[in-house]
Amino acid sequence: MSYLSLFRCISCGREYARDEIRYLCPECSRDYKPGIPLPGVLEVLYDYDKIRQIWENLKAIYGGADHIPLTELLRLFSPVSSLHFPPLPVGNTPLFKAASLAGKYGLGQLWIKYDGLNPSGSLKDRASQLMVAEARRLGISRIVCASTGNAACSLAAQCAAAGLKAVIFAPEFAPPAKLTQIMIHKAELNKVKGTYDDAFAAALAYTDGDEVLNRNTAYHPYTIEGKKTAGLEIFHQLGVPDWIVLPTGDGVILSAIHKAFLDLKRTGIINTLPRILSVQAESSDAITSYWESGVYRDAAQPATLADSISVKTPSNAHWAVLALKESGGISLRVTDREISRSQNELASEAGVFAEPSSSATLAGLKKALAQNMIPSDAQIVLLITGHGLKDIGAVKLEHS
Ligand SMILES: [Zn+2]
Repeated sequence: MSYLSLFRCISCGREYARDEIRYLCPECSRDYKPGIPLPGVLEVLYDYDKIRQIWENLKAIYGGADHIPLTELLRLFSPVSSLHFPPLPVGNTPLFKAASLAGKYGLGQLWIKYDGLNPSGSLKDRASQLMVAEARRLGISRIVCASTGNAACSLAAQCAAAGLKAVIFAPEFAPPAKLTQIMIHKAELNKVKGTYDDAFAAALAYTDGDEVLNRNTAYHPYTIEGKKTAGLEIFHQLGVPDWIVLPTGDGVILSAIHKAFLDLKRTGIINTLPRILSVQAESSDAITSYWESGVYRDAAQPATLADSISVKTPSNAHWAVLALKESGGISLRVTDREISRSQNELASEAGVFAEPSSSATLAGLKKALAQNMIPSDAQIVLLITGHGLKDIGAVKLEHS
């Protein structure tokens, strides 16, 4: 059972039935070629009136909204029934106060959502779980994905658990731990000379016909719906925080976290949205530049130790900028040195060993506080999207 209503193109607003199309809006993507942000990304819309009725019933059954179990909340906003989900559990990751860091920076409330504790070590498990569920619903046994590493690791693990075949296109420079993860789950690994953008194009070329499902991020709308569950969990654990700080590469996590709260608002469960602070590596800043100027340009030459957010052409750039505007958000840049310092700080003062990309959140928060973009009494959540063990080669230890 799913309350999915239809797909709507974020570029032109055309609407499509669930099984009418699979990936992008056919009208807007007519002239698409790899190397530009995806045109016509589809947004999944639900029967919000029906969900509101069910929510009211659940409140009566459980004695208030605060007592409704997470599984009930996730079920309302999932496009695929949990009956199709693979057996490897995903999500339900902890949210906890980072009291030491809050004290250091004079903050009222600083929380960490630790998504590095997912089974393959990253938030990407959420999208891969849903894509495997969709493949099972459709009776497809092969899923292809382009990735700098984490999405591929998660797809490899979820496919292994479900007995499906994962086909991965990854840039040859991906961190060794991630390539090992992909291979130990017996995924088919195709190393691509060049960048993530080249791998994205190779995976698109591989997707020929209905026998394979493509999990390229933002290309399939369920990659956004899967990642959205991290936002639903934050709501379930805390309510609506003032700010959510997250790392931005392709812009999918940004739009997904925003959409979680937007879906809740459309249903009438909440009245306000959290503001998003998006953090990019300075050499991989296409979405920040787009948000600042209103004009899209590729990042000139992505070269950052935060490989998970190293992107020249963010596939979900258009929706990411819309989400930033709608949430009253901000996007800013941090240097690799700032990322490394924050990685050390998170590990030594909060006990959280985060990937460089995730460590960019703390670096971005410090910058936003210094520039008075965020008030110190705000309720702030840092979204830690990947575990530090995935890329120990990027670690630069600081000695105190
Ligand atoms: Zn369209």
